[in-house]
Amino acid sequence: MFKVYLSCTLCPRRCKKNRFFEKGYCGETSHLRVAYVGPHFGEEPPISGKNGSGTVFLTGCSLKCSFCQNWQISHKEMGKRLKIKELVEEINRVITEHKVHNINFVTPDHFVPHIIQVIKKVKKSWPDIPIVFNVSGYQEVSTLKEIEEYVDIYLTDFKYSDRRLAAKLASCPDYPAVALDAISEMIKQKGFLDIKTEIAKKGVIIRHLILPGYVNNSIDAISMLYLEFGKELPLSLMSQYTPILQQKEPNLNRSLRKEEFFKIYHHVLDLGFKNIFVQFPEENEKKSAFVPDFTSPQPFKGNLKTEDVQSIF
Ligand code: SF4
Repeated sequence: MFKVYLSCTLCPRRCKKNRFFEKGYCGETSHLRVAYVGPHFGEEPPISGKNGSGTVFLTGCSLKCSFCQNWQISHKEMGKRLKIKELVEEINRVITEHKVHNINFVTPDHFVPHIIQVIKKVKKSWPDIPIVFNVSGYQEVSTLKEIEEYVDIYLTDFKYSDRRLAAKLASCPDYPAVALDAISEMIKQKGFLDIKTEIAKKGVIIRHLILPGYVNNSIDAISMLYLEFGKELPLSLMSQYTPILQQKEPNLNRSLRKEEFFKIYHHVLDLGFKNIFVQFPEENEKKSAFVPDFTSPQPFKGNLKTEDVQSIF
């Protein structure tokens, strides 16, 4: 039994729910639930490589942004219960059949005790496979310390610099401060990821998804990252925002405009960031490939290629 679930403080919500009897803010009880296990090509090139990243999409989320592109699993809690042994078998199958370059746990923080056990068992068969934690940035430093020895790569968002926007879209005005602390801890543990490497083994990449109508949030987010971590920080600038659920904020019901993207892109270049992945605005058809449908056995459409996430140096 994982005692932390008795009064859960795994994430910064610290809602102290007894997950053996009820769901936390994340929407999850003490039962491990998973929405998809399989190869995915939508990550940054050194993560996806040629064979894909072995993604494990966990059900639920401690952040729950209103516009979430994975809303079916983060908000609607779509997914199935798996025992640790069953998830290990699924992962072993994906590694064997697809030769994926890593195991990539997506939104795993509310299941950390389970995930540690899964990793220990997977590593018995595949001791060298890198383990990726793909997270929102809204992490508890103590939880990051718990998983330090099991994780090799952090792919983390830095979504909001604006406390009011974070409060409005994700009910977490503390996001900017919490996320900067969490990212500092991740970098302290793993350092910066070498983005020129063909297949990543270790390090941190920071992602920023540009929201339509909120250019200043992005400009300030990039500036904060620069001031905290410097221009060597590996940064992934994402323009893939796609409106899904009807939003109260009218701007979020449309796609990103090219002029919005280029204001932020030029700010990144003006600050001198050196290690950047950039997703230039694409045709709608290609962008929709980043929006999964978890009602399908293959949630990601077949036309997504690693090259859709471009890199510059
Ligand atoms: S992981 Fe879930 S239950 Fe635990 S503190 Fe966060 S929201 Fe609450």
